[in-house]
Amino acid sequence: MYHHVELVLDAKAELGEGALWDPATQRLLWVDIVRGQVHRFDPVTRQNQTVAVGQMVGTVVTRARGGLMLAVQNGFASLDPEAGELTIVNDPEAHIPSNRFNDGKCDPAGRFWAGTMTLTGDAWKEAAGSLYSLDLDGRATPRLGQVNISNGIVWSADAKTMYFVDTVQPRVDAFDFDNATGAISNRRPVVHFPEGVGLPDGMTIDADDNLWIAMWGGWKVLGYDPRTGQPVGVIEVPAAQVTSCAFGGPNLDELYITSAWIGLSDGAKALQPQAGGVFLARPGVRGVPAVPFAG
Ligand code: CA
Repeated sequence: MYHHVELVLDAKAELGEGALWDPATQRLLWVDIVRGQVHRFDPVTRQNQTVAVGQMVGTVVTRARGGLMLAVQNGFASLDPEAGELTIVNDPEAHIPSNRFNDGKCDPAGRFWAGTMTLTGDAWKEAAGSLYSLDLDGRATPRLGQVNISNGIVWSADAKTMYFVDTVQPRVDAFDFDNATGAISNRRPVVHFPEGVGLPDGMTIDADDNLWIAMWGGWKVLGYDPRTGQPVGVIEVPAAQVTSCAFGGPNLDELYITSAWIGLSDGAKALQPQAGGVFLARPGVRGVPAVPFAG
């Protein structure tokens, strides 16, 4: 099914990412990874507030006690967005300065998961990253090693399954998930993509436990049912590098989509002048509220 998208913020983001809806403020949180910016976009006023955090920022989540949590170049961090104050909470890879953090989200118990990738090397060739959870006691637990580009992490409504993307493996994998401990097991592929649709990047899950996956280089967001591996929707985006998506709005039925400008030739930029923008689609389904960090 084809769904129309609307450009709601002509951000020209270098590497827009990390879309997440904050129900408390009714704003879309998102980041520009390489510019080191955290953005808060109000779809009603179309105002976008920007906080520069002084280093690369891979993703943003809300925090139950207030403020925001980030996965930045050098670890898990808290951010007071009003004061612009960044505090590193835990850097599990202080000994690997060649890595940076990338995408992440909170699990149903409120742990903050995020993965690392090489910053100085070739992430397509080097599985130099790992996936961690920042636990409620502030400790970081390594959960998965040998990751190239950690992306697209979400959990099923029953908290028994975790879905994960390593972008260089062009598929979505599922794990059995133990919500009491955060342990993952039984990794298996659940979604394979056809040729020519790009590579899976960020991902969100809807109220029917279907996945909506931003396709880098694919000009689209794809919907899949991970229980059958079958497609459930296609959202065409007027930008090739589609990076993440999140359901938002008062009824969680608006899908906000981020995109990137990075690496495009002048010719490619001319062909996709809205690249780097934030887009809105209404695919006719609802999302689920994102879980805040509970630590
Ligand atoms: Ca990403």
